[in-house]
Parts: sequence; structure tokens; C-alpha cells
Amino acid sequence: MLLSKGYEVHGILRRNSSMSKGTMDLLPENIMKQISIHYGDVTDGNFISNILSKERPEEIYHLAAQSFVGYSFQNALSTYDTNIGGTLNVCNAVKDSSPDSRLYFAATSELFGQPKESPQNELTPFVPRSPYAVAKLAGFWTVRTYRDAYRLFMTNGILFNHESEVRGPEFVTRKISQGVARIGNGSDEPIVLGNLGAVKDWGYAKDYVNGMWKMLQQDYPDDFVLGTGEAHTVREFVEAAFTLIKIKITWKGSGVNEVGLSEDGRTLVKVSREFFRPLESDNFRADYTKALKKLKWKPKTKFNDLVRIMVNSDMNKIKAIKLSNLA
Ligand code: GDP
Repeated sequence: MLLSKGYEVHGILRRNSSMSKGTMDLLPENIMKQISIHYGDVTDGNFISNILSKERPEEIYHLAAQSFVGYSFQNALSTYDTNIGGTLNVCNAVKDSSPDSRLYFAATSELFGQPKESPQNELTPFVPRSPYAVAKLAGFWTVRTYRDAYRLFMTNGILFNHESEVRGPEFVTRKISQGVARIGNGSDEPIVLGNLGAVKDWGYAKDYVNGMWKMLQQDYPDDFVLGTGEAHTVREFVEAAFTLIKIKITWKGSGVNEVGLSEDGRTLVKVSREFFRPLESDNFRADYTKALKKLKWKPKTKFNDLVRIMVNSDMNKIKAIKLSNLA
């Protein structure tokens, strides 16, 4: 999106021994060629300061994080190191080395925990319910504190779940779209999930990056909720995804014994304790009135379209593999 607006784009990337670029490997080559990559880690304060003093970016999108809530329960300290320490490094580097930069920080709807009021907006109390959310809460308040104390242009984007065809495969939406694509191509292996009743507000990531950009074009820094205003369960996501391959799922049993069956009696969805979290955060539904009013932002992609985009993309990926195997 930034390239299409004519920006010079720099990104930071952690080196690994296989020299893979992670999800950036999914970007077309002509796009990658236009991005300057700097190898380093957000937990290395010197590295971040050096980059900022050298490049003096007009805008910074600070998305670097351990972003998987489930993993944060098993590895809380490394989540804190990256998500709190990393954010502090970015804020310090802006303050000391590039105070004219405008900073976007990826806060999260996870800050709401399990909200009693629905929908949620910028005034809804934060009650984090995972190490991930606790770390993001520290990030949120670091940004607010630096903004007020040092008069810096720093914004918090409180974004509800935003998904796409390059979502990590461990996240529930992609797990479902990949599983349905596999089953649609002849596999009988069921999709194994956790809490089917979790209620989330899922939107399309492409709509949200535009909102992030808009936050940095304002006259004054502020915090904004972005979401769709629509709530759906994991179960509904499963049903919508299977509809695309013309399978109607019927549910039987309850708890970990619940299964999703096709009309011809095949078990296509199972439940396992493995994918439940020690604490759930859900009951999410965004009230994005402030973003609509001040940013003129609203989501374009509806729930069913999001599911279709993700399932079709995974179906096409399998087709491409099959074709290349034939060739
Ligand atoms: P999150 O909202 O950032 O944690 O995104 P996830 O996609 O990881 O989880 C979304 C919701 O789906 C959470 O409420 C999970 O408890 C629920 N969920 C149910 N089954 C699964 C599963 O198999 N994997 C994941 N990741 N989440 C699941």
C-alpha cells in the first residue's frame, strides 16, 4: 500500500539460518525489489536507534511483535521482551534520534479481555487476559506516555482481528481455510480446533492498513479502534468456509466431544483440548464510530467475502501445487 502511494519503504527483518524472509517471501519479486531491508531485531535498542537516526523516516509502522496469543501463555517472558522491550526501544529511538517521525503502534482488541459491554470503543476499560495482551497494554501506555511527555506524534491502533490470505497457519481463520481447501481437494483429514464458541470481530487486513495510514495523516496523534462491528463465532467461520465447497456442516455432541459432520456422515471437524487457552478473550465487537468520523474509515470487506477470499486463495495454492506436480 505504501509503495502504491509512492513511499520509499524500509523494513527490518530478523536474520535466520535458512535466510528465509518469512511472510515477506510471499511478496512478489518486483515488490521486494522496491523495499530496503535492514537485518536486525526490535529488541536491540542500538540497532533501532541507528536505523532511525540514519533514515529519519517520516512514518513508522511498528508492527514487530510476538503476535500469537496462544504461544504467549507458554512463552510469556520472550513475549514481554519483544512486545514491551521492543516497543520501548522504538519509542526511545523516536524520542532521541528521530522526533519528527510519526509512529503507529499496533495495539490490539485483546486489551479488552472479555468485555462486559458490547460493542467496544476507545473508552471501554482494558482488562487483558493473556501475557500477549498484558505486554500490548504496556506498549499502549508507553506510547501514550511518550506522546504526552515529549510531545511526539505517536498513535495507538486498537485493531480487532484482521485476517488475509497470508495469515499465519496457526491462527484459527487460516487453519480453517487451509483445512477446507485440503478437504475440498479430496482429503478426509478433519480440521482439529479448540473453542468453537469464541466470538470475534474478523475483518480483512487490506482494509485495516489503510486505516493505519490514515491515523498518521491526522493533524494530531490519537488512538483509534478499527473493526467491522460484526461478531461471529469460530463455528460460524467453519460453516461459512465449508459452504464454499458445498458442504453443510451439522454439529453433534458437546465440549471436546463435539464434531462437525458432512451430510454423508464424514467427520470433518474435531475438537481438542490442545487448542484451548488457559483463559479466553472474546465477546468482541468493534464500535469504530470515532474512526468513521475522524478518519472517514470504514471496513469494505464483509465476513462472507473475507471467508471466500481466504478459502479461494488456499484452494488455488493447492491447485497450483497439483499442476506443478503434473508438469
Ligand atoms: P487471536 O484472536 O489473535 O488469538 O487469533 P486466533 O486466530 O489465534 O484465535 C481466535 C479465536 O479462535 C480464539 O478465541 C481462540 O481460542 C479460538 N480458536 C478455536 N480453535 C482454535 C484453534 O484451533 N487455533 C487457534 N489459533 N484459535 C482457535
